[in-house]
Amino acid sequence: MLNFPKTLQDSADFLSLTLAHEWAIPSFEYKVKSNTGVNIQVTVLDTGIILFEPDVNNAAYVGEAKLKHIVLSCGIHGNETAPIELCASLIKQLLLGQIALAHRVLFIIGNPAAINQNKRFVEENLNSLFSNTAKQKQAAVNFERKRAALLESAVLEFYQQSANAEHRYHYDLHTAIRASKHEKFAIYPFLHGQPWQQEQLTFLKLAGVNTVLFANAPTSTFSYFSSHQCHAKSFTIELGKAKPFGENNMADFEAMQKALMALLTNKTLALAQFEQADFNLYEIHQRINKQSANFAFNFPETAANFTCFNPGELIAQDGELRYYAQHKGEAILFPNANVPIGQRALLTVKPYVFS
Ligand code: ZN
Repeated sequence: MLNFPKTLQDSADFLSLTLAHEWAIPSFEYKVKSNTGVNIQVTVLDTGIILFEPDVNNAAYVGEAKLKHIVLSCGIHGNETAPIELCASLIKQLLLGQIALAHRVLFIIGNPAAINQNKRFVEENLNSLFSNTAKQKQAAVNFERKRAALLESAVLEFYQQSANAEHRYHYDLHTAIRASKHEKFAIYPFLHGQPWQQEQLTFLKLAGVNTVLFANAPTSTFSYFSSHQCHAKSFTIELGKAKPFGENNMADFEAMQKALMALLTNKTLALAQFEQADFNLYEIHQRINKQSANFAFNFPETAANFTCFNPGELIAQDGELRYYAQHKGEAILFPNANVPIGQRALLTVKPYVFS
């Protein structure tokens, strides 16, 4: 049997180890020392799931009251390679002792089997399987359903070490299928009436993301799960258009890479004061589910996310049903006419203003 710890210690390549063992990796742990003298406990929990914890007794330790508990996830959709490369690079630097880690961080490479097939998912969209109802849990078990349950328990266990939910963070990194009028954008999960945190928006801006969409209802996404179940400061972040491995220009992700590095090493973040004018803020307006095989959009297949429609303009039709834009500045998001009947084919969004 493969000596997993030795393989990882020799290669520092957790992504390759994960992709070579897409179903499971037995748990193991070891220590690395950073080149600044920080002792870091490395724990591989399973394939694609790796935890780094700085030794609380060393100089870089920021004190228990300020210790952050950060989840960085990527590859929830298998063909979204840029965030996978970004996380794999951070993991490698940590394994090589090149990062003076100040906080606990759990990295998740979401769907290794789909990554190997260069597909969004194998059997079912993983990002629609979180916070599952009992009814869904009883449904046929497939790879993605097992994976969603495993990721949920890993995240729950990870946050159990933080008594104070104030210090829990989760950034779920994606790239979108289609082009977007706003290249990078974040989705802020529904907070059930709690206030949106402007400090988190300024962090996103520092990370190169100044378009934010506020969700208006519970969803089955990973970020809604960690937000709602774990009270983490949690976001789905779209970092641009999905491209094959090796074709991403990593310079496009430099701001995010720098912001995450600053977060992990407790470097002071140069956060600007929140100014509404610095952002494109949206809230969800219409959620359009496909109801028949005759569902069709009234715009080209290639239309970019956040393409605007004038009030009264036809957006989609579904047999006898007609969907029109209703608001000034209403725009389309995530159109997909090929979803199964009953599932979401389109969101529309409208501008949001803090009152
Ligand atoms: Zn995605």
